[in-house]
Amino acid sequence: MSQKSLIEKLEPYFEQKLQKYRTPKTIQILMLRQTHDYSIFRTEETREINTVVLPKSMSDNSPTLKVALFASKQKAPENRYFANMLKMYLKEMVSSNRTNLSSKYKSYIEAALSCELKDNLCRRCPRCMLFGAVSTEKAASRFNIKHRIEYSTAYSLEPYEKVYELQTFNAIEDSTQSTGQALNVVEAISPLVNFPSIVSLNSVTKYEFIAYIKTLLALKGYGAETRTRGDTVNIITGIVGGFEEIITPLEYNLELSDLKSSDLSQVAEKTYTILEKYKEFAAFKDNIVILTPDELKQLIKEIQGFNISEIVEEMYQQSFDLYAELKELASDKKKGKSSKETEETTENQEESEQ
Ligand SMILES: [Zn+2]
Repeated sequence: MSQKSLIEKLEPYFEQKLQKYRTPKTIQILMLRQTHDYSIFRTEETREINTVVLPKSMSDNSPTLKVALFASKQKAPENRYFANMLKMYLKEMVSSNRTNLSSKYKSYIEAALSCELKDNLCRRCPRCMLFGAVSTEKAASRFNIKHRIEYSTAYSLEPYEKVYELQTFNAIEDSTQSTGQALNVVEAISPLVNFPSIVSLNSVTKYEFIAYIKTLLALKGYGAETRTRGDTVNIITGIVGGFEEIITPLEYNLELSDLKSSDLSQVAEKTYTILEKYKEFAAFKDNIVILTPDELKQLIKEIQGFNISEIVEEMYQQSFDLYAELKELASDKKKGKSSKETEETTENQEESEQ
C-alpha cells in the first residue's frame, strides 16, 4: 500500500505491534449484512427464528418485531474464514521456503498449521491473537489470549412480519432415517433483508485490520444450516476510529430505520451523518476520525487490491513473538516471581472468555 494510502487516516488508532494488553484504540466497522437468499438465523434449541420487540425507529416508538442475528452467528464464519485464509498463506510460504520464520519458530509454525477451532487452538497464530483462545493445557503456566474483536446482536431493519416465510420440507423419521409423509415447516428470512451491524476492533495492527476487511468482503455464508445457509453479503457502510466505541449497533439500527427503503442506496452518506451526530456524544470527541463516503469507497478498493501475502509473514512473526513473551511471563509467575506485569497477566486471564 502506498505512503499516501487512505489507511493512513486511521493510523492513530492502529498499534504498530501486537500488544500484551488492550489499549483504548478502537476502530468500528459499520455494515449492512444483507441476505441474498432464504436464510435461517436461529438458535439450535428452539428451531425458531429469533425475534425481539424494539421501537420502530429513532423517531417512532411504536413496538415492532424485528429479527435478531446473534453476535455468535456473525462471529463464527468470520473467525473460521480469517483462520483458514492466513493458514493457507502460511502453508504456501513454508512449502515454497519463502519464510525466515522457520529457523527460530519451527515448532510454532507446526502448532499454527494445526490450530483448529474450537478445541485445539494454538494461541500462537494471528487468529488466536485477534479472536482469542483459551488454553487447554493443564500446566500451571497456562494462559489465555483475550479477544480484541467485539460483536453484538444485529437486528433487521425490516419488521419480522414483512421478511419471514414458511418453507416446507419432507420430514426425516428418526428411527428409519427415511423420508416420511409429514411435511415439516421451517421459518426462513427472505432475500434482501438488511441487518445493520457493527464490529469493533480493539488495539489492532494495520495488518489485522486489512485481513479482517478482506474477510468481510470475501464471506458470503452465514446462517444456521449448511443445507439452507443462505447467502449473506456484507456491505461496509462506515468506518470510524476513536478511543472508544462511538455508536452501538442498536442505535445504528434505529437511526437507519428512519430511512425509506429507497434511500438505502445512500446508506454510506446517511451513515456518515449518523456518525457525525454520535461524535458529539463521545468522551474523546476531539479524537475521532470518520471516513467520508468517498474515502470509504477508496479504502475498500485499496484493500481489495492489496496482496495479503506481503504481510502474512509479519503477522505470524508478531503473533509468535507475543506468544513467546506471554509464555515467559506465565512461567515467571509459576516460579513465584511477582512483578507488576505478571499480576496484570493474571487479571487478564480471569477476564478471558471463550
Ligand atoms: Zn491459533
